[in-house]
Order: sequence, then C-alpha cells, then structure tokens
Amino acid sequence: MSETGSEAPIATVEGFTELYGAAPEGVWAAPGRVNLIGEYTDFNEGFVMPLALPHTTVAAVSRRSDGVLRLHSADAPQGVIQLEIASLTPRSGDGGWAAYPAGVVWALREAGHEVGGADIHVTSTVPTGAGLSSSAALEVATATALSDLYGLGLAPADAALLAQRAENEFVGVPCGVMDQMASACCAEGHALYLDTRDLTQRQVPFDLAAQGLRLLVVDTRVKHALGDGAYAERRDGCEAGARTLGVRALRDVPFAELPDALARLQAAGVAENVVRYVRHVVSDDARVERVITLLEAGETRATGRILLEGHASLRDDLRVSCDELDLTVEASVAAGALGARMTGGGFGGSAIVLVESGDVERVTKGVEAAFAEAAYAAPRVFEATPSRGAHRVA
Ligand code: ADP
Ligand code: MG
Repeated sequence: MSETGSEAPIATVEGFTELYGAAPEGVWAAPGRVNLIGEYTDFNEGFVMPLALPHTTVAAVSRRSDGVLRLHSADAPQGVIQLEIASLTPRSGDGGWAAYPAGVVWALREAGHEVGGADIHVTSTVPTGAGLSSSAALEVATATALSDLYGLGLAPADAALLAQRAENEFVGVPCGVMDQMASACCAEGHALYLDTRDLTQRQVPFDLAAQGLRLLVVDTRVKHALGDGAYAERRDGCEAGARTLGVRALRDVPFAELPDALARLQAAGVAENVVRYVRHVVSDDARVERVITLLEAGETRATGRILLEGHASLRDDLRVSCDELDLTVEASVAAGALGARMTGGGFGGSAIVLVESGDVERVTKGVEAAFAEAAYAAPRVFEATPSRGAHRVA
C-alpha cells in the first residue's frame, strides 16, 4: 500500500490483466472516510458529517456474460475467488472479504437490476479495520463500477444504499448508512452533512488548507475485542430510551428538551446507561449543527472545542473510547492541537486531530512520544484532505 491515495491505476490495471488475461473495461475508485462529528447518531436517525479521505479502493472491472463472478484483491491472500451470481446467498460465505463485493452484486440483483457476471481486481490504500471504512470503499467501488458497466445509472446515494444493504444483509454487519454515503457522495474540499432519516445531504465547505489548518488522522492500530457486542448494546439502549420517551428515534428529542428528557427517563426508572446514551446522542446531534454553523461562518478553528466535547461524551457517556484513543486526544491537545476526538465505532481504530498547519509535526511527535511512553505500538498518523467520492478513473 502506498501511503496515500495517488490514483494511478496502472498497478491495478496490470494486476487485472495478469490475472484475467485481458485489460479491464474500466477502473473505478471509492474512498475511505473519517467522520468529523455526529457519532453513533446514524442508527438514531440523526445527523453525521463525514469527509472522504484521499485513500481509495480501486477496482478494475470487466463484464462477463456467463453469470460468473471472479474476485481478487491484492490485499487478500486467497487468490481468485469464483462464484456463480445465481447462487449468491446471504451469509453463505466463509467470513472472508469476497462477501463484500459479492454482496453488492446480490443487492443489485435483489433490487431488480440486470447485472451479469464480472471479473474484479481491487487494490487499496485504505487501511482495513482501522475505522476508516475500507469495507464501504470496497462496496461502493464495486457498486459504482457495475452501475456504469451495466448501464444502471445509479445515483451515488442509491449505490450507497445498495452497498449498505449488501453489508447488512449479505455480509451480516448491522452498520448504519454513513460510511457508504460518505464513500459515494463526498465532494473535494467539503464535509458531507447527512440527515440519516431522510438522507437529505448538503456539502459543507471544509477547505482546511485555505484557512491554514490541517486535519490529522491517528490510526491507533488497536482494535479491542469488545467492539461488536458493545455496538449492539448501545443500539438497544438507544432504542429503549426512544421507546420510553415516546419518540420514533432519539433524533426526535430536541437539544433544548434534553434536561427534561433525562429527568423523564430517570423518573421512569430506566437503567443508568440508557440515560447516558440518550445524553450522548442528543448532544452529538446538536454538535453537528453547531459545527455546521461555525464552518459556514468560516470559523473552523472554533470547531476544535466541539470535537473535544464530542470526545468527552463518547468517552464518559457512551463509553466507547479506549486508553489509546483518550491518550491520542490528550497528547494532541498538550502539543497544541485545536481539538481532537475518536472517530468511528471506537474501542480502537482512529482519532481525528485539528491542528494549525505549522503544528503538524509538533502534534504528530507529541502523539508518537506519548504512545512510546505508554509502551503502545507506534500509531500511524496521516493527513485527511477532504477528497471526492466514488468516480471512474480510467
Ligand atoms: P473498516 O471498514 O473500518 O476498515 P471493517 O471490519 O468494516 O473495517 O471492514 C474490513 C474488512 O473489509 C476486511 O476485513 C476485509 O474483509 C474487507 N476489505 C476491505 N478492504 C479490502 C480490500 N482492499 N481487499 C480485501 N478485503 C477488504
Ligand atoms: Mg467497515
């Protein structure tokens, strides 16, 4: 993997040609993402604000007329995997990576699109399993390629929804829609404001360089096992909170009514953790709105404070952070960062750090030194330039 997403698909095309004996019909790229603010809000029908990374998954693809799907990834050891598209069945795979692109083919066909076979070869610069949505990048690259090649004319948001369905139903991961929407719909120099209830979206200017700022991603390189069960537990807790409050989803609790809602939950005798989850979700939805207001007013520096509040809420109320993420935030701020927070599902994965351009090195060194001092493995630190969503590259 090269360090960032230089898009040169040459290696991908060569790899494809070597594997399948002819050049691909086309090459598509879809990015990973980080979420600026609005975490664990998407399954509460709330607001999120991701931006696409310059790191992409690149898919070289050709159609086949015999209903066969051949899949290969430069990052997977399995070699070429061959499947019959007519016999694709949800959750039938061996848990391997092929379920993501195969799931996309399945979801397209379930939605009534006439997709035949395909030869697919992918390369990627999106770190996998680091909370940066390599899974969505893989799905969205596949969906975009097949939509173009088979003339389906899918809008980016439709490709994202089918990719989410693939991950939910075919792979069996109960993710929300943010990752796929980010990978499909983001625009360069912008963050994507997304209402996950009705999928209304707005591109919010986030041109960091023009304001002398940088957004760093710190991949802690840890993934604590707790993650999967904790996600389901938070989700159940949020649903219980919404039920008790008599709303369809926590998104329907206005921030101004949060104190009253918390008092009602306590009076109803709900578990203490549910009260905390509700406080996180309702306040994080409000933080999305506050960040948008600041960005649209050109006051990007002031968002740092809100990132820190968001982190405290994820750490103390939702309790999905971990020592490595907390240390990243503390060390960044100590080294002069404007703000930082964990991003994604937590329990490891990555954090984002907002810094003055001139402070990149100092903050990077500060985080690296703190990790060394704590005897943690060295984190991977890179810059998140707000990049474009899925597109054809050749
Ligand atoms: P994240 O999406 O945060 O990176 P996930 O656990 O959701 O983490 O998805 C990671 C999985 O997606 C990998 O374990 C692998 O199965 C699959 N995957 C993603 N990108 C690739 C790739 N380029 N090649 C093969 N598999 C990939
Ligand atoms: Mg994922």
